[in-house]
Amino acid sequence: MKTPVIVSDFRAGLAGGDLLIQNCHDCGKPNMWPRYACPHCQSDNLGWVKSSGKAVLHSFCVLRQGAPEGFEGDLPYAIGVVKLPEGVQLLVRLEATGENDWSAYGCDDEVEFVAVDPGEIERRPCATFRRVG
Ligand SMILES: [Zn+2]
Repeated sequence: MKTPVIVSDFRAGLAGGDLLIQNCHDCGKPNMWPRYACPHCQSDNLGWVKSSGKAVLHSFCVLRQGAPEGFEGDLPYAIGVVKLPEGVQLLVRLEATGENDWSAYGCDDEVEFVAVDPGEIERRPCATFRRVG
């Protein structure tokens, strides 16, 4: 049985400037987060597709204090749930629009994937998005 590499491909994509979505080769449905077996058809015949990087911001919050352990040094930062047109959603970091300023963001805003420095991905392997317009 083939064992898909769950996280390393996703992280390598981020480090290379691509947002990858796990995709089932048997039923064609996307999975996020990646899994060892497709939650729709249980197949382990899984691969990756590059996302368009477009999304809609479903919800978000700005953390200025009280970060979880290990995230204190990142304060302030914003996290959000984005919905991708590929049919999945994921938790992301939101790029500030000014210095420590996320006041321009609102729910249902159009957002887009932003490639960040590979060193930053090594330190904090999550996708970053920014407001469009
Ligand atoms: Zn499937």
